Amino acid sequence: MSKLSFDRILQSQGFGTRKYCRELIEDGEVTIDGVVNDNFKELIDTQGLVFTIFEEEWTYREHVYLCLNKPANFECSRKPSHHPGVLTLLPEQLSWRDVQPVGRLDHDTTGMLLMSDDGPFIHAQSSPKRHIPKLYVATTAEPVTNELIQKLLSGVQLHDEPAPLAAQSCVQVSEFQLQIVLEQGKYHQVKRMLAAAGNHCAALTRTAIGQLNLSSLGLQEGEWCYLEPEHLALLV
Ligand code: URA
Repeated sequence: MSKLSFDRILQSQGFGTRKYCRELIEDGEVTIDGVVNDNFKELIDTQGLVFTIFEEEWTYREHVYLCLNKPANFECSRKPSHHPGVLTLLPEQLSWRDVQPVGRLDHDTTGMLLMSDDGPFIHAQSSPKRHIPKLYVATTAEPVTNELIQKLLSGVQLHDEPAPLAAQSCVQVSEFQLQIVLEQGKYHQVKRMLAAAGNHCAALTRTAIGQLNLSSLGLQEGEWCYLEPEHLALLV
């Protein structure tokens, strides 16, 4: 059992400074099981804790794991320069928790972006040693050919890489589209591999990470959801 004072609980969940959280509690804005609790010092068990603030319901989460269906023209960087940052697509309370993207997508790439405030998770998930497959759908400027697919499967040399990089799988979807699975996460990797193989990436979307498919989460572009343990188990 893990007990924390009520003000610390609210602060840990991103509702603001300790002082502000105390004010919320003392003002009677927070209920547990339908009953106002205005004692910010009370030690409360965080396990399975559900509370409401301004009549909106929240469940206590030690860490948050999110999936965003990233739209184009948002940057993953913490200090975006040309477009708004992806964090602006989340409720303010989640940015207070220091939620960060797990890896990056280019500003014009759409699709599956994991986000979390759990440092070890972010680190493990981004580690090149894990070889987690990532599925992309690329729209090409020139028609997809067998030769292109063979080059991507056998490996292409990128100028700053010591050895050629190969796709784990590569399948033609239509005349100008292919599905490509990569196990590495190099900078602009899909775009640079397509260029090195003699084509050009006109649009890119990430549709799966490990065994977790974006389509199974039912998110429209710009929408996000919490990932539960059963989702996290698929990120391999
Ligand atoms: N490869 C790219 O080129 N861009 C991305 O955003 C992701 C993978």
